[in-house]
Amino acid sequence: MSRIKLLPETVASQVAAGEVVERPASVVKELVENSIDAGATSIEVGIQRGGMSRIRVVDDGCGMDRDDALLSLERHATSKIASAADLTAITTLGFRGEALPSIASVSRFRLTTREPGAVAGTEILVNGGRIETVRDGGEAPGTQVEVRSLFYNMPARRKFLRSETTETRNIEHQFFLQALAHPAIGFSLVRGEKVALQLPVTTSLRDRIRDLYGAEFLNDLLEISEREQRGLRVRGWIGRAGVSRQTRAQQFVFVNGRAIDSGILASALREGYHTALMRGQFPVTFLFIDLDPQDVDVNVHPAKREVRFRDPARIREAIVEAVQRTLESGRVDWERKFSAPIPTAGATTAATSVLVEGASSRGSPWIERPIPSAPEISARSSTRQSDGVEASRPTAPEQPSLSQSVPAGRADFPIRPQPIVTPPYLEPAAVPKDDQQFQIIGVLNRLYVLMENSDGLVLVDQHAAHERILFEELRRRMEEQGVPSQRMLLPQIFSLPPRDTEWVERNAATLQKMGIGIESFGANNFRVDTLPAFLEVADAADFLRRVIDELKTTSRSSSPLRLGEDMIAKTVCRHAVRANDPLRYPEIEKLIRDLLACDLPYCCPHGRPTMIQISHAELEKKFGRKV
Ligand code: ADP
Ligand code: MG
Repeated sequence: MSRIKLLPETVASQVAAGEVVERPASVVKELVENSIDAGATSIEVGIQRGGMSRIRVVDDGCGMDRDDALLSLERHATSKIASAADLTAITTLGFRGEALPSIASVSRFRLTTREPGAVAGTEILVNGGRIETVRDGGEAPGTQVEVRSLFYNMPARRKFLRSETTETRNIEHQFFLQALAHPAIGFSLVRGEKVALQLPVTTSLRDRIRDLYGAEFLNDLLEISEREQRGLRVRGWIGRAGVSRQTRAQQFVFVNGRAIDSGILASALREGYHTALMRGQFPVTFLFIDLDPQDVDVNVHPAKREVRFRDPARIREAIVEAVQRTLESGRVDWERKFSAPIPTAGATTAATSVLVEGASSRGSPWIERPIPSAPEISARSSTRQSDGVEASRPTAPEQPSLSQSVPAGRADFPIRPQPIVTPPYLEPAAVPKDDQQFQIIGVLNRLYVLMENSDGLVLVDQHAAHERILFEELRRRMEEQGVPSQRMLLPQIFSLPPRDTEWVERNAATLQKMGIGIESFGANNFRVDTLPAFLEVADAADFLRRVIDELKTTSRSSSPLRLGEDMIAKTVCRHAVRANDPLRYPEIEKLIRDLLACDLPYCCPHGRPTMIQISHAELEKKFGRKV
């Protein structure tokens, strides 16, 4: 049955002309897209010398009859759209009708195709755009396209090709994109004579990610719990807070199954990650956006890499929301690690353990701490117990300088009493959860708190942890009643351009929450008399101009309080305990509890990790106890 129609000239010109074939990877992209559009369930990509000497794509899709096969090589011939109206709601990957003729015109090209049930297939050989042979072919149902000597007749283009390694990498990237977008299709990649990748058909994106990157990689990812709103769906997997890369290589975004480069989407991701991402780093995302094809224009770029959204703000909001929600859901795993009892041998019997006093008002102990066994207690420790003495005696009273919550055998643990440096305007952090199970072992290098939880060993960066705690506390204050502000000794009068004047008047309430007290002072003049207490501002007018500039450029959809968050994130560092600040046991305990009560406990406001978990399994592996 003939499915291909020649587009009228007007429509053809609407399908913007342009170079489709830039490099071997673009050939792979176009051919695989055709196979997907043809309903293939299995696609094999074979390449030789980075695709420069040969690319072959074999599918088991619908195939073509002889007329269609010939027509498919004509410019602007497509079975996927028939009118200009169809351009407004494209559901296939292809629609421009120019890939096959373009590729065939710059290579030695062979198309073999057969419809299922047809007695014979068709084979067409094209050389630099000239059809040389058309004959019956006997291949399996489906389509096979072979592209040899790409750009052999275009020396200028060929010169622009990079090394074999680079071109191979580009092809592989393309292959990964398609494989990720279509888990229900089996893919294989053959490099030279070797099968480099074989991806079985699967129903889930998770399995496809695992088959591409390995099972361990999944530990770094969180699944977006799917949500659909007015026909807009965001789904997929994204890196946990603190997981990032130096390049965009693992930042995948798909719109209706099509891999897309989009500044809007990239910045929405960045905004969603916000403090969970280190500056200059890129998130790891396998993000899928599905929406009504009418709401997105894919006819923007000849290689169809870019799209235009009818309502970009809405897409942006949905992404930011999905990312934030997902990152916060990552807490659950940490909660699990800190909620199960620590499986310490012998620690469970009353005779060998003591209860360390819990800070909880409800009186529930947060941990059962075993009395250190003999070798663990140093000779100078006064808490050493003689044989036969009942072991359930509470912790040593002989430690005058320490609170009684300091366990026996930890005499050398606190260095000198010094409180956590909490800025005076901060109240104690949010009510800590008191059912957390962990055991503090000590502090390494006056920086890393070592502790044990049900999963194994945890290292906490005390500075990063305190930054996270202060940050969330200040942010909460800002959202609720506004950050603490400080009255300036000398209020400052300054002027703003008329456009900004109106803006300031409209946003005075937001500025107030950020701790900035500003009021109109005659024509285009303003008077500022309070500033956020945690900021050291040398020149108030200059500071305000910058704040206003930045606030104006944040997206319409994002809360202006986001900028306040940035302000806090930037300054919170100064107030946090420093790497070398010696902390006493109770302070460390409080620090850990406060950290675990945070929304995003596992990274500091700059996206660096606060905690590293080394599981029992990893330790056993390192010690060769388990392979
Ligand atoms: P487009 O994909 O934009 O329609 P192409 O030049 O890539 O344009 O392909 C032209 C037509 O050839 C397609 O519309 C399709 O009908 C047919 N075609 C191409 N590749 C295949 C394939 N692998 N299996 C079946 N039909 C194909
Ligand atoms: Mg195509």
